[in-house]
Amino acid sequence: MASGSSQCNKIKPVIVVHGGAGAVMQEYEDRYRAGVKKAALGGYDILKNGGDAVTAVEEAVVIMEDDPHFNAGYGSVLNEEGEVEMDAIIMSGKDLASGAVSAVRCIANPIKLARLVMEKTDHLLLTDRGASQFAKLQGIPEIPGETLITERSRERWKKNQKPGSNPVASQLGLGTVGAVAVDSEGNVACATSTGGLTNKMAGRVGDTPCIGSGGYADNNIGAVSTTGHGETIMKVVLARLILHYMERGMSLEEAADEGLKYMKTRVDGSGGVIVVNSAGEWTAKFSTKHMTWAAVKDDCLQCGIHQGDNEIVPLSEIL
Ligand code: ASP
Repeated sequence: MASGSSQCNKIKPVIVVHGGAGAVMQEYEDRYRAGVKKAALGGYDILKNGGDAVTAVEEAVVIMEDDPHFNAGYGSVLNEEGEVEMDAIIMSGKDLASGAVSAVRCIANPIKLARLVMEKTDHLLLTDRGASQFAKLQGIPEIPGETLITERSRERWKKNQKPGSNPVASQLGLGTVGAVAVDSEGNVACATSTGGLTNKMAGRVGDTPCIGSGGYADNNIGAVSTTGHGETIMKVVLARLILHYMERGMSLEEAADEGLKYMKTRVDGSGGVIVVNSAGEWTAKFSTKHMTWAAVKDDCLQCGIHQGDNEIVPLSEIL
């Protein structure tokens, strides 16, 4: 658990990112920490230079999609046919505009395509063939699907082919990515991107691209990005549920805890969330063993993986 709050009236930009909830193997911890820190710093750089929250969360997610350690973009897990199919969503809290793609293949950055859906179409979600046609029209290069596959995700997939394998166990340590931010105007945004679950059925769409489940952003309340078992997140519409609790007066921490608790008790699901509001408060909470997260505010970087972790590094020591 970690959180922060504003000390004065002026909105200070904030970005929080996650690199997935689950159980991270110790040998990978440093790489995960480095990955979320880089993403948070990349997004914060945009906010600090007067950029908007949507651009900041997109940038942070692109950085993690390009990082082979995360289950998004390059490094995505494989479906039962041994192929990468990815989901992503982006949302602007200013006008509730959002864009999402599901089951997309052969592109490097699904989050960029989701943003184009938001900005260039009258729709909220494009899938599969229509999404790739739209990507081509927008000039997004098509790449061979195999170039998104890492040795690690291939190995995981192979293990799952063995009789008696446990797909949930083999998912451990493979992280969906997400970001939430508030810019200096007080606008909030969220973005989430994933390769989904290892060995999922071809065509399976999880929570990530579903508005209210994988993410939600509304300046009047805040922004949330989620991670965890998609089918259970969808059942409780986790991102919007947490914002609903905040609307009813709970703090960010209370709302995140309550949402995760409801998902556990009602449908036996575990996961993690990152939350901001337009006052610049933020939190990162998870009911799994681990969730990799990082946040930047007030020129200070915070990061964690285990419950209770909170490494604090002033940006002056990094830059
Ligand atoms: N929520 C993602 C999905 O079910 C997986 C994850 O967050 O790890 O597609």
